[in-house]
Amino acid sequence: MKQIKLKGKDIFDGQRLLGPGKVLTIDENGLVSGITDETEANEEVQELDGILCPGFVNTHCHLELSHMKGVIPEKTGLPAFLTQVMQSRHINADLQPTAIREAELAMWNAGIAAVGDISNGTATLHQKQQQRLYYHTFVECMGFVDAGASTRYNASLEVLQAFSAINGASHNSSIVPHAPYSVSRTLFDLLAATPGNTPVSIHNQECMAENELYQNKTGSLLSFYQTFGIDISGFNAPGSNSLEAYLPFFSHNRILLVHNTYSSSQDILYAQQQATETWWCLCPQANLYIEDRLPDINMLRSHGCNISLGTDSLASNHCLSVWEEIKTIRRHYPEIPLEELLKWGTSNGARALGISDTYGSFHKGARPGVVLINEESKRII
Ligand SMILES: [Zn+2]
Repeated sequence: MKQIKLKGKDIFDGQRLLGPGKVLTIDENGLVSGITDETEANEEVQELDGILCPGFVNTHCHLELSHMKGVIPEKTGLPAFLTQVMQSRHINADLQPTAIREAELAMWNAGIAAVGDISNGTATLHQKQQQRLYYHTFVECMGFVDAGASTRYNASLEVLQAFSAINGASHNSSIVPHAPYSVSRTLFDLLAATPGNTPVSIHNQECMAENELYQNKTGSLLSFYQTFGIDISGFNAPGSNSLEAYLPFFSHNRILLVHNTYSSSQDILYAQQQATETWWCLCPQANLYIEDRLPDINMLRSHGCNISLGTDSLASNHCLSVWEEIKTIRRHYPEIPLEELLKWGTSNGARALGISDTYGSFHKGARPGVVLINEESKRII
């Protein structure tokens, strides 16, 4: 098979920037042969203007919300944002299939090769059957009233079965809790007891109100429940932050904690003492869109947290691009080396989703896709 030899201004191999003078060899199907010194690459080498990088891994997306681009105003805070999502999901619903297709194409063009995608229903099933991108589908389950737990769980299991049957049962999927403020104790128990269900994902500490609810049963989520007539009399505040209350349910699993905008140093230390393998997924552009605040990324770094990146949805972001998330982090945290950020967006994401054999790095035998980065990021293979 024909080998393609590519040289950029630099090559990021999934772990580090290798410096100039290296050549990536890859076949027509995108299978990596290896990286060599320029002097050893005796055949024709294509020179490209930018950094060569493995395809990005977007560890948190909601492709099914793509038709909601621009519908919800920015910087309202999470409880108001959620209220709007629930009230406006039906707007432009006829545009949903087209919006899903276009959003996936935009992800491909921006260099995303693999996606951890939250799904409440089966709206994205058709697109995922095309297998243009790799998906791990996180079927999201919610219900804050204990009495409804088994009904909600069984409905989500049906969605899970539909996804896991894609293309001869080769599609990876798991059933996951939405957030600490939207999942009852009984539902948490059902989800945690699901066999072979890994990785798990949860929206974690995306707003201050979530911690207030768990600490004292106070805060702005209470009026959210009131708006939707949700009876929370069965919820007893454990008196800790949310993470501490639910993380033990998922011991010996791998979990993606998404957002972490209000996670404290104490939360991180607690998580690191548990048997659970935790991944801290950051979606900075969505945090700015919804809460106008970023997580304390340097605190996460100083504790040595495993970090991955996500785009969240077009309901809370202007585009689905891991490179744009990296650029946003660089604007607010210019001291974080590019190499580290690229690692979060590639090999770390692949580890979080359990797909490191194929995605996130240029090791021999991998098929991660190739992205060219200059000002923009662009998928080239
Ligand atoms: Zn989300």
